Amino acid sequence: MPEIPLLNVVDLVKRFPLGGGILTKPRAWIQAVDHVSFSVSRGESFGLVGESGCGKTTLGRLILRLLEPTSGSIELDGDNIFTLSRTDMQSVRRRMQIIFQDPYSSLDPRMKVEAIVTEPLRAIPGQSRARRREVATDLLEKVGLRSADLEKYPHEFSGGQRQRIGIARALCVRPELVVADEPVSALDVSIQAQVINLFEDLKAEFKLSYIFISHDLSVVEHICDRIAVMYFGKIVELASTADFSITPRHPYTETLLQAVPIPDPHHKSEPFPMEGDVPNPIDPPAGCAFHPRCPYVFDRCRVERPSLLEASPHHFTACWLNQGRGIEGGTT
Ligand code: SF4
Repeated sequence: MPEIPLLNVVDLVKRFPLGGGILTKPRAWIQAVDHVSFSVSRGESFGLVGESGCGKTTLGRLILRLLEPTSGSIELDGDNIFTLSRTDMQSVRRRMQIIFQDPYSSLDPRMKVEAIVTEPLRAIPGQSRARRREVATDLLEKVGLRSADLEKYPHEFSGGQRQRIGIARALCVRPELVVADEPVSALDVSIQAQVINLFEDLKAEFKLSYIFISHDLSVVEHICDRIAVMYFGKIVELASTADFSITPRHPYTETLLQAVPIPDPHHKSEPFPMEGDVPNPIDPPAGCAFHPRCPYVFDRCRVERPSLLEASPHHFTACWLNQGRGIEGGTT
């Protein structure tokens, strides 16, 4: 029997109303997540990449049930989390934790580090103050801080140190899955590498699975086993990191890869000929949502939306270039 994935996202949709009120209908709907499906295995690091506004952060919040979906399901170990009672959801929340982008606003400035790190533990009965302090001391050391830091306030730390506190807080309930939402994008480049290395070390030590959300492909490539690229609420490419970097199949992925800096002073990168603006979410384009910006666009792209299909083993893409030119080329 095939192993049940730790997380299974099935045909997930999230729409937000625009305008309207209690007695009036919304003026329009914005489709933030559009029929997204993927799974994450135990011990896997899964990357979600895309430009700001592509729906990746909404997807991360749906996975933690910080938002309710319009339709679709998310299964943790086979159980649909959207059908769980409030009590059952509490234990699920302990199994899934989030690390936020901004290490400045995500920590309460009035709380000492000990209270911040042990906050999730206080919801669990039978955890004495001494036990909570012991856990916090151990976690601070594991994330590279000192036990004396328990008595300090967030403003006494640098950005990188604050993110380490956020990581310690996420780990204090021993989660199985951590959703890290742009966890290094607010940090200096030199600090980013340290924090990414910390994520890798902690993954092995705590037997974690990650969903790593980022606009920066180089960050996700470094830490993830598989990567999904999102555009306009949909996954447009999904593959192993190795396959993805060597043979990107979606034109949008090509643009993301070209934006990754190459640490070679002799390397000259060619600008990708992408034109047009990000589509208006209130008035999405017909056909492939990327077609107004795609240099390879042809007739079929403007009228039919490609589905995410397996173009080569375990490499999925939503692009007519990989699925047949249809109307114009005569093949499918
Ligand atoms: Fe470009 Fe067409 Fe592929 Fe969309 S379907 S990415 S417009 S080639």
